[in-house]
Amino acid sequence: MSTAEPGDLVRVQTERKRPLGTGLWSSTSQISLRFLGPEEIQDERAWLGDRLRAALEFRQSLEIDATAWRLVNAEGDRLPGLIVDVYGTGADRIVVLQTLAQAMDRRLPLIAELLVALLAPAGILARNDPRVRRLEGLPEVVEVVHGHVPDEISVLEGGLRYQVNLREGQKTGSFLDQRENHAAAARYARGRGLDAFSYHGGFALALAQRCDRVLALDSSAPALAQLRANAGQNGLTNIEAREVNVFDELRELEIARERFDTIVLDPPAFAKNKASVPRAAAGYKEINLRALKLLTPGGMLVTCSCSSNVDEGLFQQILMEAAADARAAVTVVEKRAQARDHPILLAAPETHYLKCFLLRKLA
Ligand code: SAH
Repeated sequence: MSTAEPGDLVRVQTERKRPLGTGLWSSTSQISLRFLGPEEIQDERAWLGDRLRAALEFRQSLEIDATAWRLVNAEGDRLPGLIVDVYGTGADRIVVLQTLAQAMDRRLPLIAELLVALLAPAGILARNDPRVRRLEGLPEVVEVVHGHVPDEISVLEGGLRYQVNLREGQKTGSFLDQRENHAAAARYARGRGLDAFSYHGGFALALAQRCDRVLALDSSAPALAQLRANAGQNGLTNIEAREVNVFDELRELEIARERFDTIVLDPPAFAKNKASVPRAAAGYKEINLRALKLLTPGGMLVTCSCSSNVDEGLFQQILMEAAADARAAVTVVEKRAQARDHPILLAAPETHYLKCFLLRKLA
């Protein structure tokens, strides 16, 4: 018999009634129960407050070279269904959060109150427009839940300045999970660079500091407008931004026999669910095959997948097949994941969603 209300904290026990711990209950979801741990939670305020403080302490220990970072990464901070990103510093600091499970959504006012006490932000924006909320029976809404939130905010990442669109940008405005990979890619960048799926220029700007010139490709006009503005703000004049479908453009570049010394592939998640994995694998293989053909011998390919349904082993297999078809001998220089402020929970392998391989094509 179920008496739990949507979003209740519930006691979890075995069939023989042996207590296991506490979970978050969703009445409408593909994930009915999100397990929190063995403890009994008596005081919700203390539970959430402790978890948020622990998350902040860890981020402070990371010495992140940026003014935009993730404070709470759901399961990775033992706060399933909650994402909290921080943009800016001091009195201008803005918090952007997402409550993606019924339990977190119900506690949004309490979470906002605790975040105000912890960070004293100028404003808190709930970017509750991801479609996954539908699976929980939750509406898609974007609302200010504290103070004042500007449309845009300027942030620093590794010496580069980016203008971030908080209300309409993708995710919470920026791809903070790629921060450390932007820096890693820059370390190997040289010659002519290509940034495919560039969004507002996370990789393109990092590459442009070292490359002679960089071509950035994206299908989103607003993202490219933002990229051009970001390049201008940083005094970078060696970036060309093209509004194209990457699949088509890679083919065109190949026909035109163009060559690049540094290539980045950072597509959106091709596999949104398990059923779409075979199709996604074909997509990943195609772009990687084409990129390896466009790459000069000795060049670097920085290739990413953010599909949690395509694990690191499968992604490596796809890359191996692409290299074989491209007749390229390729070495793995680095295997990376999402940035450290997006912790992976070992017990939940799907939280390791971002894979980033730095490959070198041998001469
Ligand atoms: N590399 C970026 C994040 C990329 S997000 C960073 O580090 O900040 C993925 C981007 O791919 C989005 O900007 C989206 O507009 C773009 N995109 C999705 N499908 C595309 C396609 N077929 N062709 C070109 N761009 C595409």
